[in-house]
Amino acid sequence: MIQMKTPIVEIDGDEMTRVLWAVVKDRLLTPFVDLKSEYYDLGLENRDETGDRVTAEAAYAVKKFGVGVKCATITSNAARKIEYNLENLYPSPNATLRAILDGTVFRKPIVVSCIKPSVSTWKKPIVIGRHAYGDVYKNAEMRIPGAGKVELVYTNTDGVEIRLRVADMPGAGIIQGLYNLDESIRNFARSCFLYAIDEKLSVWFAAKDTISKIYDGCFKEIFNEVYETEFRDKCETMGIDYFYTLIDDAVARVVKGEGGFLWACKNYDGDVMSDMLASASGSLAMMTSVLVSPSGAFEYEAAHGTVQQHFYRYKKGERTSTNPVALIFAWTGALAKRGELDDLPELIAFAKKLEKATLQTIENGFMTGDLAKLAEPKPEKILDSWEFIDKIAEHL
Ligand code: NAP
Ligand code: MG
Repeated sequence: MIQMKTPIVEIDGDEMTRVLWAVVKDRLLTPFVDLKSEYYDLGLENRDETGDRVTAEAAYAVKKFGVGVKCATITSNAARKIEYNLENLYPSPNATLRAILDGTVFRKPIVVSCIKPSVSTWKKPIVIGRHAYGDVYKNAEMRIPGAGKVELVYTNTDGVEIRLRVADMPGAGIIQGLYNLDESIRNFARSCFLYAIDEKLSVWFAAKDTISKIYDGCFKEIFNEVYETEFRDKCETMGIDYFYTLIDDAVARVVKGEGGFLWACKNYDGDVMSDMLASASGSLAMMTSVLVSPSGAFEYEAAHGTVQQHFYRYKKGERTSTNPVALIFAWTGALAKRGELDDLPELIAFAKKLEKATLQTIENGFMTGDLAKLAEPKPEKILDSWEFIDKIAEHL
């Protein structure tokens, strides 16, 4: 048994990913590691019962212990309120966690030799660095019932107001207010350059400052300033480039380029583009995701959701072919980081072995349905999640 020193903050979730979470632990982790975990149940029922307190508690635990691992969770909406008979609707757990931890989410495709990306020019993985604080994820929005004027009002701590007209609305419509903080943007830029130096990747940053001259303009300015004052020398000696371009230009270049860089994205762009990247690289389940907080905490997660449709089929008795790779890599990321922080080389080695066993299992032709559709050569048989996890255990 491999021993641990400090616990990992374990954040459980919902539906199909919750089902597989337990199987992954049972078959691939606890037989080998004397797993120490601080458990937080972010399943929708428990979030509702605790008035969502459990989500904030989990975030503070990640801050305290330094390493967390998170299962996918349902973001509640009107349909879920009925389905789960909920008292209230709470914000997305990821938004709550990210608001407390701040920081940047790095997402990187998991590459296997039998699956070629749909973009034929891509030779190396593209890593997305997604700013995880603010913008539309911390917005205030309102349905406007009819004609009237809309203004932005800022009141400073002395009570002095600044007003700005947003629109004279001729009729009913919608409005939304967004914000971000200089310090969070600065930390976003720092995390990206630190990650890029660590992985020896060039950095692309893109926004829409031609249209949003102040908001996106501020992102561009701060990113440049952090590069010039803190990272230019280091990047130049390492041959790492930094370049800024417009988001639409970046998208065009990404699809024509050969990959192998860090693409720093604002929060919403990163949300959307990481799903594009994951799908183009094979499957939503073939991507790692880690939130790096400026306080030095790391939270590893799967980038996909709770795979709701598979869960409904599972509840009817079907053994679904849901891909657990992103869940496995969330655990290996957390175990390896814990090993690094606590100086436990055996724990790091175990995490690397489990990753290797997972990739080899797929490359030897054993895989779930999402990958079987894309693999060359085609596997003889599509495995269900349980068979696939057992195959990984065999390889391990
Ligand atoms: P999803 O769970 O990511 O699934 C969308 C589709 O992608 C699935 O129907 C499935 O396609 C495919 N897919 C995703 N993960 C897969 C896997 N591991 N193996 C095989 N196929 C996979 O997104 P969703 O259905 O839009 O959202 C479901 C719930 O997840 C929602 O309540 C949402 O709030 C939540 N969510 C949570 C997170 C998070 O916690 N990080 C992120 C996104 C969404 P096929 O049906 O074609 O097989
Ligand atoms: Mg997304």
